[in-house]
Amino acid sequence: MTPSLYDAMYPGQDFGSLSWLEQQWVHWYVSIGNPVIATGLMSFLLHEIVYFGRAIPWIIIDSMPYFRRWKLQAKKVPTAAEQWECTKTVLFSHFTIELPLIWLFHPTAEALGMSTYQVPFPSLKTMAPQVFLFFFFEDFFHFVAHQALHTGVLYKHIHKIHHKYSAPFGLAAEYAHPAEVFILGAGTILGPLIYCFFTRNLHIVTVYLWIVLRLFQAIDAHSGYDFPWSLHNIVPFWSGAEHHDFHHMAFTNNFSTSFRWWDRIFGTDDKYREYRARVKAAKKAMKNASADDIKKLEEKLMDEVEQEGIIAEKEAESRGSFGAKTVKVQ
Ligand SMILES: [Zn+2]
Ligand SMILES: [Zn+2]
Repeated sequence: MTPSLYDAMYPGQDFGSLSWLEQQWVHWYVSIGNPVIATGLMSFLLHEIVYFGRAIPWIIIDSMPYFRRWKLQAKKVPTAAEQWECTKTVLFSHFTIELPLIWLFHPTAEALGMSTYQVPFPSLKTMAPQVFLFFFFEDFFHFVAHQALHTGVLYKHIHKIHHKYSAPFGLAAEYAHPAEVFILGAGTILGPLIYCFFTRNLHIVTVYLWIVLRLFQAIDAHSGYDFPWSLHNIVPFWSGAEHHDFHHMAFTNNFSTSFRWWDRIFGTDDKYREYRARVKAAKKAMKNASADDIKKLEEKLMDEVEQEGIIAEKEAESRGSFGAKTVKVQ
């Protein structure tokens, strides 16, 4: 305890009026004594704990055959070795790219007028619209940048790594080339920085809430499972795994992260919708067939889409075609 540091950082603060979390926040900044290190360390730990903490349930689900009925590509369940290989690559990029850069976060945030060590936190009423705005910004940023990453050189040298898994799993959310982590990560962090630059009204705790939700979104979208209670079945414009799994399986379409609207408006979900309609029609036509036969038909349709995707991927690599729509298949 360094009472002078409490006074220096929080002059006149009534600590008794703070919530438990706010008190822990104060304690963290005071006991570390250096806000740059305190923010950097907290940001890094938060990312590691949430990322791997959220991936663990999906690893367990992948190991239980009971859940296979909700797996989008049931034939492709990641092995333990694949998951471990993926974990090592993700950890390597966290420690070599993110960790050296994270110390810039506090000075940048402060320069833009963001509250960091200060308490109390903003109310939920203040935080909720800000977080929605960051979701909206990131989703559109990703929609554009992701399509750019599907063009010739950028695909071949950068984004191809993320497409290693045609049936993704939770841990694979951040399995990507360091340049991609940097480019697409900008969509997550630029929203709060631009917002703060213009409004001078943002607390870092709101940014953390946004990052936690964004991590949940990314890991769940890569989980490979679509449950009846998955969010997109309740909120129809939410993308979820059912949307992004198709992107990995078919290589084309569905470039956004959180919401379905941009792909719908710009028509970059045509193949996806066609595929869904084909599955629906086939199931309807086969409604008296055995579950096994229906499953076989679904697998056949999936194979067709994947084969088309392999051709589309080769074309994207060899030409500088922008997005999926210009790629001619067959
Ligand atoms: Zn992609
Ligand atoms: Zn992905």
